[in-house]
Amino acid sequence: MLILDGKLLSHEIKTEIAKTVASQIDAGKNAPHLAVVLVGNDGASLTYVESIKRNTIEVGILCSVYQFLDSISEKELLAAIDFINQDDEIHGCIVQLPLPRHIDKQKVIQKIDPEKDVDCFHPENLGKLVLGEEAFLPATPHAVMELLKRYEVETSGKNCVVVGRSNIVGKPLALLLAQNNVHADATVTICHSKTQNLKEVCSQADILLVAIGKPEFITAEYVKKDAVVIDIGIHRVEDKTSEKGYKICGDVKYDEVSQKCKAITPVPGGVGSVTMACLLKNTLKAYLPKIK
Ligand code: NDP
Repeated sequence: MLILDGKLLSHEIKTEIAKTVASQIDAGKNAPHLAVVLVGNDGASLTYVESIKRNTIEVGILCSVYQFLDSISEKELLAAIDFINQDDEIHGCIVQLPLPRHIDKQKVIQKIDPEKDVDCFHPENLGKLVLGEEAFLPATPHAVMELLKRYEVETSGKNCVVVGRSNIVGKPLALLLAQNNVHADATVTICHSKTQNLKEVCSQADILLVAIGKPEFITAEYVKKDAVVIDIGIHRVEDKTSEKGYKICGDVKYDEVSQKCKAITPVPGGVGSVTMACLLKNTLKAYLPKIK
């Protein structure tokens, strides 16, 4: 059984990015600059933003965090994004979700300049993705595609089952797998909470990709022998046997599924590690055409 090592791949991608950034700086150019908009004190968001800060430093990308109180009005938040849009020295912008209830998430997303939308949330970029045109790719689905490509997992003509249809993971991932290109060309089935006979559908998959948001939901019974399993879920669950009192796990029951499949992404150290590298890659993609 092969472990699809996200940490290793992330290191490879970040090394490539750091080299490109260093060569631009050596040539006297400004560094790429990512703006992160954060509203409130959501614990998971704060942790993610800290991780963005650490990772941008590692590769030489500047990162500015625009943090606002929960009480910020929608108008003020839209004005802040406009300010970021106007700043030619900022190349990428992400708005950390969730936003407080009184703010219309779609209005905020649509305010981001599509050329700076490195999360690929803007409808213009999602539209390009549907059309198969050159665009930013959403970080998590992009990370999955990078893992499949760099580990030479054949997707062409394969039966791929994606469990989950969220706008940020399941749906764009299914689209990428079905694209007409050599690293895709899969036959894709999308499952969700209304899917009947989920176990039966999953157990037909050559490649099973799970983004369901339920700890260790997918057991060996859902998996065909010698399938490739991509676990996108990430959870912190109570574990009395661990010193910390918790463990990190995915949507797949790793211990039993790894006995049956041909290859699998671990959690932690799988898709999540590569997601961050893909966000940095998008920032570089936003920056390179803008430098003079
Ligand atoms: P969402 O909660 O937005 O979507 C979950 C999807 O799973 C929905 O489409 C839902 O169906 C479906 N689902 C829920 N229960 C079942 C069930 N019993 N049977 C079949 N389908 C079901 O989650 P996200 O897509 O945002 O995230 C999924 C997981 O991935 C989470 O664990 C999250 O933490 C993780 N994640 C990891 C990232 C990474 O970089 N590694 C990045 C983003 C997320 P329905 O649409 O019908 O409700």
